[in-house]
Amino acid sequence: MNFIQTRGIDENSSSNVRFSEAILSPIASFGGLYVPETLPKLGEEFLLKHLNSSYKELASDMLSRFEIDIDAKVIQEALDLYDKFDDASNPVPVVKVKENLYISELYHGPTRAFKDMALQPFGVVLSSIAQQRDENYLILAATSGDTGPAALETFKNRANVKVACLYPDGGTSDVQRLQMVTEKAENLKVIGINGVFDDAQNALKQLLASSEFNDSLKAHNTSLSAANSVNFGRIIFQIIYHIHSYLELVRQDAIVMGEKVYLNVPSGNFGNALGGYYAWEMGLPVEKIIISSNENNVLTKLIKTGKYDLRNSEVVGTTSPAMDILKSSNVERILYDMFGPKRTKELMHSLEVDNFYELSEVELARLQECFDADFCNGDEGKKYIKDTFENYGYLMDPHTATCLKSYETCCDAKIKTIAYSTAEWTKFSPVIANALTGENDAKDITALESISKEASLEIPSMIKELFDKKIVHDTIINKENIAKEILKFL
Ligand SMILES: *Cc1c(COP(=O)(O)O)cnc(C)c1O
Repeated sequence: MNFIQTRGIDENSSSNVRFSEAILSPIASFGGLYVPETLPKLGEEFLLKHLNSSYKELASDMLSRFEIDIDAKVIQEALDLYDKFDDASNPVPVVKVKENLYISELYHGPTRAFKDMALQPFGVVLSSIAQQRDENYLILAATSGDTGPAALETFKNRANVKVACLYPDGGTSDVQRLQMVTEKAENLKVIGINGVFDDAQNALKQLLASSEFNDSLKAHNTSLSAANSVNFGRIIFQIIYHIHSYLELVRQDAIVMGEKVYLNVPSGNFGNALGGYYAWEMGLPVEKIIISSNENNVLTKLIKTGKYDLRNSEVVGTTSPAMDILKSSNVERILYDMFGPKRTKELMHSLEVDNFYELSEVELARLQECFDADFCNGDEGKKYIKDTFENYGYLMDPHTATCLKSYETCCDAKIKTIAYSTAEWTKFSPVIANALTGENDAKDITALESISKEASLEIPSMIKELFDKKIVHDTIINKENIAKEILKFL
C-alpha cells in the first residue's frame, strides 16, 4: 500500500511513498501528513475470524492487510513486545465498570501509559528500517511526561537510533521524571530544560528547522526523525486495540456481533481517536466516537460548532496534562478523509496564519455524523474518580475520568460504550490521592502509598523500583544550549 499526502503535493516530492518512507520522514508537502491511499476493508468476516484470536494474531492479520514494506519477521518481533505486558495472553483487558460502560485499559505496558501500545512495536520497526538502509537516525522528543519515558524505553540499546529527550524541569510528575532520568543506555540522552513544556517543544521545532543543526548532524552521519503521534508508524498500531476491545465485548457477551458501540477517547493530539476512526472505516460497528477533553477544550468546540479557534486561547495547566494541547495534529487526517486535500490545505493554512478556521454547515454535519464531544474540568474529574471508586470499586486516572462526563452527556443509554483508559493510577497519583482522601500537595511516593492502602492495590514493581534507581541523566540547561548539548552527546 502507498501513502499519500493530506495537503496535496509540491513539486519536490513524489506523489506517493511506501510506509518506510512515511515513517522515516513523517512531514509531507506543505507541512502536511501522510495517510494510507486506501484503508483495507475488513468487515464482519474478519471480526468473526478473530473472535477467538490472541491480540498478536489479530494484530498480525490486520497489519498484513495494509501491505506495508516491512518484513513479516520484523513485524512479529515488534508484536512480541506485547508479551512483556502484565498479561501476555491479553495485553489490553476490557473491564465492565457499570451498566453500559466498559473500560479498555491501554496502560499495562512498561511505562504504565497508553503510549507504549504504539511506541513499543514502533521502536523495533524504525530501528530495523534504519539498519537495513545502513543509516543512523536521531529521534528528538519533547515530552510533558508520557511520551518521553515510552520513547526511551522502546529505543534503548536499539541499533542505528539515538534519542535525545527534552523535558521541562519541574514540569512533570516525580514518577515521570524518574522514568526518564534513570533510563541508562549509550544511545539515550535526557535533558531537563529550565522552562515549561512549550519551551522544550519550541526549542525542538527550531532545531528541526535549523539547517545549521541538520548540517552538523550530517557531519555525524545522522538524520533526524520523529516519534510523535503524527508518525503513521504509531497510528497503525493504534487501530488494533479498538478492534480487539470490540471483540472482547462480544466474547464477554456484552454485545452481539454487529452491534454498534460508542468509542469514548480521552484526547490530546487525536492519535488514539484517529485509530478508532480508521477501525470504523475498516468495518468496525461503531455508533459514534466521543472525544473527551479537559479545560483545553478546542476539540469540543470544533465538534460542537465547526470552529477551530485559537485566537484567544492559551494552554492551561490541568490535572490531565497529557491532554493539555491546543493544536491537535491528527485532526488534519480526519479533515483529509472527509473533505479531501485541497480543502485540508486551505483549512490548515488558515489555522496557521489566522489561528482560526470554520467548517461549512455541510462539513460540520459530516463531522457530527462521526463525532460528538464534551470536556470535563479538574474538579468534575476528581469527583468522577471518587464516585466511580466508591460506587463501583473501579479506580481510574484523571485522563480516563474525562470520559465519564461525556458518557453522561453524549451517549444514548441503550448503547454500550467502550471508554479508553490511557494511564495507570501510578502515573498521576497526587491528583488521585487528593480525589480519594482530600490530601493536598503529596509527593508521588506518599500519594502512591496512600492510594495503595486506600484502594488495596499494589504499586507495580517498575514504579516502586524507580525511587531506588540511580539517576544517570542530570543535565539541566537553558534552552539556548540544547543544540550544543545534543551535538556533544552524538
Ligand atoms: C498521550 C495521552 C493522551 C492523548 O492521546 P492522543 O492520542 O494524543 O489524543 C491521553 N492520555 C494520556 C495519559 C496520554 O499519555
